[in-house]
Amino acid sequence: MTLRALYIDFNAYFASVEQQLQPAWRGRPLAVVPMLTDTTCCIAASYEARAFGIKTGTLVREARQRCPDLVLVPARPALYVQWHHKLVTLVESCVHVNQVRSIDEMWCALSGRDQQRDRAVQLAQSIKHTIAAGGGPYLRSSIGIAPNVYLAKVASNLQKPDGLSVIEQHDLPEVLYALKLRDLNGIGTRMEARLLACGIETVQQLCAATPEQLRVAWRGIAGQLMYDRLRGKFDTPGNSQRSSVGHSHVLPPHLRHEPGAWAVANRLLQKAAMRLRAYHLVASRFCLTLKFRNHQGQRAGWSEEVALDATAETRSLLQVLQLAWHRYPRLISGTRRSSQQDMQPFFVAVTLVQLSSAASCTRSLFDDNHCGRLDQALDHLNLKYGKGTIYFGAAHSALQAAPMRIAFSHIPDLDLEADQILD
Ligand SMILES: [Mg+2]
Repeated sequence: MTLRALYIDFNAYFASVEQQLQPAWRGRPLAVVPMLTDTTCCIAASYEARAFGIKTGTLVREARQRCPDLVLVPARPALYVQWHHKLVTLVESCVHVNQVRSIDEMWCALSGRDQQRDRAVQLAQSIKHTIAAGGGPYLRSSIGIAPNVYLAKVASNLQKPDGLSVIEQHDLPEVLYALKLRDLNGIGTRMEARLLACGIETVQQLCAATPEQLRVAWRGIAGQLMYDRLRGKFDTPGNSQRSSVGHSHVLPPHLRHEPGAWAVANRLLQKAAMRLRAYHLVASRFCLTLKFRNHQGQRAGWSEEVALDATAETRSLLQVLQLAWHRYPRLISGTRRSSQQDMQPFFVAVTLVQLSSAASCTRSLFDDNHCGRLDQALDHLNLKYGKGTIYFGAAHSALQAAPMRIAFSHIPDLDLEADQILD
């Protein structure tokens, strides 16, 4: 039967780029970290490190305990983006890349004779060969081939590292039964809980459920979509319109207090505003999130949402941030009064949502467009002379604190986001 999608997922991507570039690190347990401090988390782990139980999210302190010889490498996001573009070009030389899904994932549509199993497998092998020859043998990938993109991604997860798996129509649904619900994309902890509440405990039960049952579990059309995907129906996940623009940052130890968090929030919001303008979008809602913890390891979160007149202007957005910050929690709910004192902010995120095209936005009656011209000038100077050339002063103490980072679903634009482009 017809195979229509080929999905490529690079294995331990950031760690593999580092090992490719540094022969001394090859074959060694290695973790990429946002900064060299014990209180942060690993953002990538080589397969050698994974053998010690170290993975994305493992605290560095714990990782060192598990593996004293662990190589810790400060992340070099600009480099990972440059390699990403190189890898897309290499894949593109074999077959057209339909969509980049994240910094280390992309999919290609199969057409003509490539939809036959033998040809599709040959193509996957030639992609791996091209990457090894043009990029390097440490940049391994797992490739999945299936009747649709969703199942091709599932297939790419079946064998790691350096996998190549095919799910054919006639393998369905039995081939999925060995998986756990959480192995399926789109089923996180909350969705799993909802499925359990609906009496669906296994992938086999999920596959046996009717579309109506899945609509109830997913609370809408997404349930029907899952029903179709599990049956191999072809889906074309288009370039869905961007739904949010935001940045988050784990605070370095010297900024783990209210003024530090404030400065970082300012910095992040100024970056987000610049990106919003570059995408010709405006936002109608702003969300601020902070996470706190104390020395006993107790954690608490706080977030505040503010509706605003659709805008992409830095000054207006900073005013909204100020408004939200007035409600900064003096007492953090859910923690004992005795431990309030040493609750420190350690994570800040700003997100702009409810986005629409700047062209379709009605200008405010009171808008004299001075801010628009000011923003244009700021963006121009920062693009020409480097990020941080000119900025609103509240971000000053955090200027070095929020360098470019890579959420897996967001590939930074080097022009817009690189604080320093590495050699
Ligand atoms: Mg990956």
